[in-house]
Amino acid sequence: MSPTLQSLPFFQDSYELRIAQLQEERKRGIKVIGTFCLYVPDEIIFASGADRIVLCGGRADTIPVAEQSLPRNICPLIKSSFGAVIDACCGGSLACPHIPLIDVVVAEATCDGKKKMYELLTDYLPTYVLDLPQKPGSPEAREYFLSEIRKFARFMEQLTGNIITDEALRREIRSSNATKRLLHRLFALRKSDPSPIRGSEVLRVMQKQFFLSPDMFRKGISLLCDELEHVVSSGNTGPRIMISGCPMAAGNTKVPDIIEQKGGVIVVEESCTGTRSFLDLVDEDVDPWKALAERYLEIPCACMTPNDQRIARIVELAKEYNVRGVVYYTLQFCHAYNIERLRVQKALKKEGIPLLAIESDYGESDTEQIGIRVEAFLEMIA
Ligand code: SF4
Ligand code: SF4
Repeated sequence: MSPTLQSLPFFQDSYELRIAQLQEERKRGIKVIGTFCLYVPDEIIFASGADRIVLCGGRADTIPVAEQSLPRNICPLIKSSFGAVIDACCGGSLACPHIPLIDVVVAEATCDGKKKMYELLTDYLPTYVLDLPQKPGSPEAREYFLSEIRKFARFMEQLTGNIITDEALRREIRSSNATKRLLHRLFALRKSDPSPIRGSEVLRVMQKQFFLSPDMFRKGISLLCDELEHVVSSGNTGPRIMISGCPMAAGNTKVPDIIEQKGGVIVVEESCTGTRSFLDLVDEDVDPWKALAERYLEIPCACMTPNDQRIARIVELAKEYNVRGVVYYTLQFCHAYNIERLRVQKALKKEGIPLLAIESDYGESDTEQIGIRVEAFLEMIA
């Protein structure tokens, strides 16, 4: 167990503060954008003078609402996100006070489930969809994505009435890179053995990255890093584990909690709520539009093909963080991450790194069974 970290309540207490900030911004006419994915460049949103929050749902209680419209056999993240919007827009009781603060959703064409959900979402909130090439490696794909982000910028200019200058974009790129550098600092601290902080604590912090303003988030991460640099004995001495796979949106911490209850120590997450969100910086020394297009298409999401970069990165991270095993986490019915597991498993096997595959939803019915499998895995790698 980590000692109690004094800086963590900053993140726990930040929700109300952020809601108040958004309410005040709206009174001043600032637009608030809701997004669902790393592929939507925050830099463009902020450069237009708008604010943004990420709407990916990790709560189980919004799923039954969504299942009144959506098929049951799709990814829980999609259902939870959609359910939260319907509930808030139809005067439900599930209390997501940030949803009524959204002016426009900026969605993205990634997996099939999300794309189709966004079509239904337009009945509840104005929705703009950013298109993405699915084979990002070619120069044509980069050109296409560049034209898409320029089109998106025009949309934001019309919405806010502000022109996005190159200077404003460069400023936001520097700001976003500053956040990423702080996260590099946080994750570098986790390379210590024992790690000064538990993975479930880091996950809860990372989930706030997508909700707080960049300034608030950076303040919290700086405080946390300063504190972690002085942790002498954390007691986090179990087998070092990497989690790799689907994002864990706010409200979903089931699997990391189980791993740590069983004695594992999560030291790195290869996911959108982990390294995928910050490892690569945007080049500050070239044309800002091209730099954004380059960097965003490098996000190694399983929706892209081929995704060799992700496989190589997982192996690199496993070695860099000196992990004993990888827990590969797939949300139920997420075919892209589920199928890509086979390539990940093969690459890790070559390096002698064992993998435990867990596919789960947001319910509690499989908690005991996952616990038994995790326990056996930890015993095997100890
Ligand atoms: S897993 Fe892919 S589609 Fe989902 S949020 Fe991450 S980048 Fe977007
Ligand atoms: S976890 Fe998979 S199925 Fe769910 S939204 Fe992300 S890419 Fe789509």
